[in-house]
Amino acid sequence: MSVVVIEKDCRGCTKCVKSCPFDAITMENKKAVIGIACTSCGTCIEVCPFDAIVKDEIEKEENDLTLYHDIWVFAEQRQGQLQDVALELLGEGKKLANARGCDLCAVVCGSNLSHIVDELFAHGAQKVYYIEDDRLNQYTTDGYSIAIGDAIEQYKPEIVLLGATHIGRDLGPCLAVNCNTGLTADCTKLEINEETKGIMQTRPAFGGNLMATIVCPNHRPQMSTVRPGVMERAERVEGSKGELIKVQTKLKDEDIRTKVLEVIKTVKEKVSLTDAKVIVSGGMGLGNAEGFKLLEKLAKAFGGTVAASRAAVDAGWIDHAYQVGQTGTTVKPNIYFACGISGAIQHVAGMQNSGLIIAINTNENAPIFDIADIGITGDLYKVIPDILEELDV
Ligand SMILES: Cc1cc2nc3c(=O)[nH]c(=O)nc-3n(C[C@H](O)[C@H](O)[C@H](O)COP(=O)(O)OP(=O)(O)OC[C@H]3O[C@@H](n4cnc5c(N)ncnc54)[C@H](O)[C@@H]3O)c2cc1C
Ligand code: SF4
Ligand code: SF4
Repeated sequence: MSVVVIEKDCRGCTKCVKSCPFDAITMENKKAVIGIACTSCGTCIEVCPFDAIVKDEIEKEENDLTLYHDIWVFAEQRQGQLQDVALELLGEGKKLANARGCDLCAVVCGSNLSHIVDELFAHGAQKVYYIEDDRLNQYTTDGYSIAIGDAIEQYKPEIVLLGATHIGRDLGPCLAVNCNTGLTADCTKLEINEETKGIMQTRPAFGGNLMATIVCPNHRPQMSTVRPGVMERAERVEGSKGELIKVQTKLKDEDIRTKVLEVIKTVKEKVSLTDAKVIVSGGMGLGNAEGFKLLEKLAKAFGGTVAASRAAVDAGWIDHAYQVGQTGTTVKPNIYFACGISGAIQHVAGMQNSGLIIAINTNENAPIFDIADIGITGDLYKVIPDILEELDV
């Protein structure tokens, strides 16, 4: 245990008992006793008015936080193409690096990636750690977690950010376990604490009904996966340069236990909701799958794409690739039409940052109207044809 009570200083005030988020403290003979549920979060240390709770010094020596510097962004590439989420992480990483007073760095794995290295510099990376190896062209859990884990051990970043994509969600926990550190998944907001300089990681919890802000005070690096589509992309400055650091990996062939036989593009990769400027989204109010044909007409008139609520996806009316919301895609189009969508919090979480929200719903009390810029109370099967007629399509 790394948090201990100095028995002679404890006055039995019980303040620490109430403060412990893990119910790890009990009172015995009017003295606080820390039990096995303690996660060493440190909350009780600050709460005790008599300085009776301290960190175990042995652990402090083992875990020297001052050795860690800089913010790293995992530059996810697929088939040699840098993924958009990496640019979003660079945008967010820059703000954090400015607040923290450290360098913004990127780490990229694979071979023949000099074009990606240039892009990372152009988008604000001051250093790029390039783990150049043919075996890393294709993502594998073993290959990436070993190669990046080695680099983390060698160069000791303070913060590591990954996109909460399928790859990032697989890699993040493996890296965190290898580095024996904390990870917060699917963050939607990141800030630097002015006092501690640690990162405050906010993510929706309990189905989006609660926003949890999580810190990692005692272990490094502090790691987060970040929800794609939420952060602003970094600006591109042509010709920006930085320091390129080629990292040697200790990876051995036999370390990689999976063999990728074939990569099949699913509809999900073809549908690009995150890039769409106009989205016409349909929910249960459509009544049936056929309703999406009408939405397609409206989307086409604006050069946009259709999307859906989870209820419409669950009803089997449309592929999951089109789902907007907390468990679907987060979108930020210029115009978002919500047609026959009630506006549940889990849906709104994925589209509330859209430029203009236009809601069409028969129920004037539907919560979607609370966030809509333009609300039309009416049957979408009457309203949309009227709009199409006005548009002359
Ligand atoms: C953990 C968790 C995660 C979730 N993740 C997501 C997610 O990612 N995305 C998501 O969307 N949901 C998600 N949900 C589900 C969410 O809570 C709602 O159930 C869902 O968004 C409701 O979809 P809806 O608005 O299409 O359907 P309903 O809530 O049934 O709303 C239908 C609306 O259509 C209106 N309507 C009916 N007929 C017409 C008509 N003819 N013209 C116009 N309006 C009409 C009704 O008034 C009603 O407001 C999640 C839920 C949980 C618990
Ligand atoms: S360090 Fe945190 S978890 Fe441990 S006893 Fe104190 S408040 Fe509870
Ligand atoms: S807050 Fe301090 S003094 Fe009060 S019970 Fe806990 S350890 Fe003892």
